[in-house]
Amino acid sequence: MLQFDADRDAMLARAHGAAIETVVAIGSGTGPGSLDCAIRLAKRERAGEPRIYATVGIHPHEAKLATDADFDELSTLARNPKVIAWGEIGLDYFYDHSPREVQRAVFLKQLELARPARLPVVIHCRPSQDSQNAWDECVGILAEQWAASGLGGVLHCFTGMMEHARQALDLGFMISFAGNVTFPRAQNIRDAARELPLDRILIETDSPFLAPVPHRGKRNEPAFVKEVARQIGELRGMAAEEVAFQTSQNFYRFFSLPPASNAGMPIPSPSRGAEG
Ligand SMILES: [Zn+2]
Repeated sequence: MLQFDADRDAMLARAHGAAIETVVAIGSGTGPGSLDCAIRLAKRERAGEPRIYATVGIHPHEAKLATDADFDELSTLARNPKVIAWGEIGLDYFYDHSPREVQRAVFLKQLELARPARLPVVIHCRPSQDSQNAWDECVGILAEQWAASGLGGVLHCFTGMMEHARQALDLGFMISFAGNVTFPRAQNIRDAARELPLDRILIETDSPFLAPVPHRGKRNEPAFVKEVARQIGELRGMAAEEVAFQTSQNFYRFFSLPPASNAGMPIPSPSRGAEG
C-alpha cells in the first residue's frame, strides 16, 4: 500500500484536467523499506493521466536509518529507466530528525553514488529558524563535492537567499519554486522567483506539503501547481500560461526528456511519492 492510494486515480485525473503532462514522484517515501515507492508509481502508464517519472534517495529526515544495504539498493534502483534524478537529499536543520553530522554523511555518500549513476540530484534544504545555515552548507558541499561531476541538479522548494540561488546556478543547478512562493511572508522566495533567469527556474508542488494559496492548509496535489505559475507570473509580469510553458521547457531540457506529445500547456509538477 502506498499512502494516498485511495484517491490516486482521481488526483491524477485532476492533474490531467489541469493540463499537467508530466509528474516527478519523489522517491524518499518513509525512508529505507520504501525506496522504490516512486518507481512503483512511475510504472503506471495510462491514457488520460500525466506521465510519471521517479527519483530515488534517502531524505535527510531519515538519514539516521540508512544502512549500507540501503545504499546498495539505491544504486540498483537508480538504473531503472524511469529514474531521472537522485533525491531528495540534503540537509534539514529545521526539524533535525537526524543528527546533523549523520545528515551530512548520508548526503555526501549519496553524492558519491549519484555520480557513477550519472543522475542529477534533487536537493532538499531547510535551515533552522531565522537562519540560512543549511543553505550555506548545502551550497558549499555542492561546490566542493558535486560541481565537478557536471551533472547539476535541482534546488527543490527554494527558500534561500539570492546569493545561494546564484551560486547554485553557477554550479549548473535549476532553482525550483513550490507552493510557499504564494505565502504572504515569503519575501525572499518571491524576490528570487522574480529575479532569477527564466530559463533556469522550475515550478513544483512539493505534494502533499505546502499547498499554495488558495488551497493553503489542504493536502497539496499536482493540479495546484497552476497557482505557483500564477504567482510567478504576477511577480514577473507574465501570464501564468507563459510561466508554465517556459518552466516545462526548462524541465524537459534539463532532464533531456521529450516533451509530452499532446503538448497543450505542459506543467511538470514534482510531487512526493510517499508510502504509508
Ligand atoms: Zn523537500
